[in-house]
Amino acid sequence: MSFRLRVFLLTLVVAVVATGATAWISLRLTAQQIDRSQQQATRHVADIAETVRSYGRRHGTWAGVAARVGQLSADNKQRIRLVNLYGQVTVDSDTLAKRTARPVVSPPTLINPRPSLTLAAGANLKTDYGVLDELAQYRRAVVYARCLTEDGGEPPTVTPDAYGIPLPSAGTPKDGSPCSTQAADAQEVAAADDQTAVTGCRAAADHSACLVQAFGNQAETFAPEPLQLYLGAVDDDPLSVLARPTMAAIGAVLVLSVIGTAFVARHMSRPLRSLTAASRRLADGHLDTRVKTTGRDEVGELSRSFNRMAEALEGAELAQRRLLAGVAHELRTPMSNVLGYLEALQDGVVPASRELFGSLHEEVLLQRRILDDLQDLTLAEAGHLAYRRTDFDLAELVEVSRVAHLAVAENGRVRLTAEAAGPLPVHGDQDRLRQVLGNLVTNALRYTDPGGAVVLRAFPLPGHAVVEVRDTGCGIAPEDLPFVFQRFWRADPARDRETGGSGLGLTIARQIVLDHDGTIDVTSTQGEGSVFRVKFPITPRYANP
Ligand code: ADP
Repeated sequence: MSFRLRVFLLTLVVAVVATGATAWISLRLTAQQIDRSQQQATRHVADIAETVRSYGRRHGTWAGVAARVGQLSADNKQRIRLVNLYGQVTVDSDTLAKRTARPVVSPPTLINPRPSLTLAAGANLKTDYGVLDELAQYRRAVVYARCLTEDGGEPPTVTPDAYGIPLPSAGTPKDGSPCSTQAADAQEVAAADDQTAVTGCRAAADHSACLVQAFGNQAETFAPEPLQLYLGAVDDDPLSVLARPTMAAIGAVLVLSVIGTAFVARHMSRPLRSLTAASRRLADGHLDTRVKTTGRDEVGELSRSFNRMAEALEGAELAQRRLLAGVAHELRTPMSNVLGYLEALQDGVVPASRELFGSLHEEVLLQRRILDDLQDLTLAEAGHLAYRRTDFDLAELVEVSRVAHLAVAENGRVRLTAEAAGPLPVHGDQDRLRQVLGNLVTNALRYTDPGGAVVLRAFPLPGHAVVEVRDTGCGIAPEDLPFVFQRFWRADPARDRETGGSGLGLTIARQIVLDHDGTIDVTSTQGEGSVFRVKFPITPRYANP
């Protein structure tokens, strides 16, 4: 799985879990809130149902209830729908508001405006006239109220009487008005029917139950029908109303999370991708490849490390190329010399002589020395030069070097002396340090004219042992001083090659000294002489290996 994909998935999981948890908590809180408001709504339902029922009782009809329902709907901010027991809609506030009626939420509340007769315990039921009278009064009141309502009037208010029957407290007016007359007529027409129904109960075993039933049956024929009250609509079910925006918000947050996560993953993996591409280019040999480094974070640090590595590789390659060019250049001259002599010999231009072969031998020796030195240098620079370290006396080494070079010094008529304040115990490879000292003494003798002097000194400094090679030779020009330890560098290439120098001696010497944690430096005055000074630390390690 790619890094980018991993970052993407990880961040996405965190985002989804966080969003889900937030949504769950808010839905739970919302549900609790809704629960509380639903309890309030239940009380509302009772109030609305009672208002509608009172209307039916007072008006004796559902005609004109629409205006009341419209008012109730507006006051309670509730959708109200009234349906009769056959499913026919009496009124719907949605239709009143001129919108399509929405599906209703069950269960409905039953609104029954019909009164039921309440017979007081112990009431005298021997005669049925009381019930008949109730029926008559009720019938009359209902017909009157309905007539008034249909005429656009307002019927009188009703209150339950002793039998629980809602009647105008002042009784139904008998004033000869059209509605009053209509009510009286209706009562008269039904009187015989009512009497039959009531007297039919005389033979009944449960007299009072039969009377209640008979009253109910008769009242049913003229009182307003019961209605089912529905409140609200499916689509404004509070939970779904709240859940919808919540779901939408969750969806939006999720979409944003996905986009944001993709962006973050892309942003995070970009530097890594460019590093991968850069590594490939580097591996393909484009050593000048670098990456942009931005920021101080880990990725920025990685980019900087990459650039440092690329620089080191480029530097190493450059050094290698220079070395090869140097080697080729160094070998070409002695090789050309040998070739020239051999061709001249072949053509008979020069006679074969002892001196000529001596010369050829010299040239070949020089080539071999260059190659030997080169091998030493390569090993030393790669850290592969084997050192056999022992404890030895540096003062003694100085004396040994002096003795070894005495013959050469006498030959060149140069005075070679040594001043060693020994013993100077150091820890290191004695042979390699003799090689260093030998190189310095050889150079000193080589660049000192007859009559001059070379002095070797060994002395202690705090924490250090120092060896110095001082000559009264030609010296080195100040502008040349920085180059003396560079490979193949010579102040005067033609002359120095004649003297048999490879131009690598000081480079190797410095590497060996560095490998012994030492330092080597030179001070020189042109025409007066030079001083090469090598300093080794005397650490406890060297003192007690
Ligand atoms: P070489 O083998 O050619 O002597 P080195 O690395 O030992 O190479 O020395 C490099 C160059 O430094 C020499 O060619 C010479 O020009 C200069 N040099 C070294 N030692 C001395 C010295 N004691 N006096 C003057 N020049 C010196």
